[in-house]
Amino acid sequence: MQFNPHATPKDTGWIEVICGCMFSGKTEELIRRLKRAEIAKMNVKIFKPMIDNRYSLNEIVSHSEKSMPSELVENAKEILEKAKDAQIVGIDEAQFFNEDLIKVCEQLANDGKRVIVAGLDQDYQGIPFDPMPQLLGIAEYITKTLAICVECGNPANRTQRKVASSERVLVGAADSYEARCRKCHYIPQSLR
Ligand code: ZN
Repeated sequence: MQFNPHATPKDTGWIEVICGCMFSGKTEELIRRLKRAEIAKMNVKIFKPMIDNRYSLNEIVSHSEKSMPSELVENAKEILEKAKDAQIVGIDEAQFFNEDLIKVCEQLANDGKRVIVAGLDQDYQGIPFDPMPQLLGIAEYITKTLAICVECGNPANRTQRKVASSERVLVGAADSYEARCRKCHYIPQSLR
């Protein structure tokens, strides 16, 4: 990968997408990049959608419990207003925003900001999770994080749902989901 995470935009913005299944370290990688930007004295703003209050209301928190302060927004357009002064914009749990997020990220990058977006790329059935596919299409840099399959130890890129629910959005962590590889992932009969 040619991406240099120390780089700072010069007269241009760009979009970085960090995507993968649950427990693959997306938020941890997001936090790592944002902390480096702060060390470089950049003005960093971090957002996450209102739906995700799993761990904490005003921070983004990885499963390994690294955290950074963030702002909750009800929709993607709010980010445009709130990120006006930011040089670096971090967005976590991007899959919970609607398709407005695509235009918002474009606008932020066009305005010269470095936009770093993390999110689940597939839902529990292994279906691409909008708007992540579209974000991948417009991003300059893409990082796909893999977890470890809890069944067989292979690299895992799917999220296995352990509870019976056919809702696409079911917020939870280790109690409701685990990482599985292609071979071990399945959709429970009752949910098909
Ligand atoms: Zn497996």
